[in-house]
Amino acid sequence: IEQKIQQSQKMESLGSLAGGVAHDMNNVLGAILGLASAHLENHPVGSPAHGAFSTILKAARRGGEMVKSLLNLARQNPAEQRELDLNAILREEVHLLERTTLAKVRLQLDLAPDLRPVRGDAADLAHAFMNLCVNAVDAMPENGTLTLGTRNLEGGWVEARVEDTGTGMAPEVLEKALDPFFTTKEVGKGTGLGLSLVYSTVKAHGGKMELQSEPGRGTCVILRFPASGVSGEPRESSGPQKIVGGL
Ligand code: ADP
Repeated sequence: IEQKIQQSQKMESLGSLAGGVAHDMNNVLGAILGLASAHLENHPVGSPAHGAFSTILKAARRGGEMVKSLLNLARQNPAEQRELDLNAILREEVHLLERTTLAKVRLQLDLAPDLRPVRGDAADLAHAFMNLCVNAVDAMPENGTLTLGTRNLEGGWVEARVEDTGTGMAPEVLEKALDPFFTTKEVGKGTGLGLSLVYSTVKAHGGKMELQSEPGRGTCVILRFPASGVSGEPRESSGPQKIVGGL
């Protein structure tokens, strides 16, 4: 419980910081993007200057994505409240990622055909699943299997899980995994905002999040949401489960 409080305090202060900084940061990034793209066009493809400006553009776009993530972190409620099919969101995400991110891994879909709908924002949930898929793939340098699963829980909740057969997390990594800006990835690869963003999206949807991870075996991220029209707590869980971040 203590961890839960710490986590939400962190989110809150990050949220107000983000709101204040994001606007100015967008202006800065806008200037960089505008100038870099204007200069890019003035140099032939393949020239050193063209290369430099496209690197600048890429970095500035990445900065823009980070600002967007920070603003999303601060959100308490889903942007939209529609009735959604998590299976459809997962299938769509697979479709988007299968030629790139998911190309190197074996994919297994384990989707309940009669899954109850949830209420919320499709784009936010899709983004959360994308972050989880990217993490899963990053953790599987070769020959891994990514499993996306859904099922109905008793008590009217639904569950989605993203499971990999990758490196897993050491206990000290697992403990910090949800912290904003915590990353074990090299500079320029990870921002450390992925899981905190997933967590804040899940929370905004009234859901719960659980991380199970074993070094050398893999990781399973479980998201649980109240089905549309349901209040109360989820029931049913299978065996002992490690709950991280007090979710
Ligand atoms: P990022 O991916 O940018 O590092 P995240 O918040 O998504 O940020 O993840 C934080 C850290 O948690 C990662 O750097 C990694 O060490 C660990 N992690 C997250 N997902 C997984 C996973 N599926 N397998 C192993 N480690 C993971």
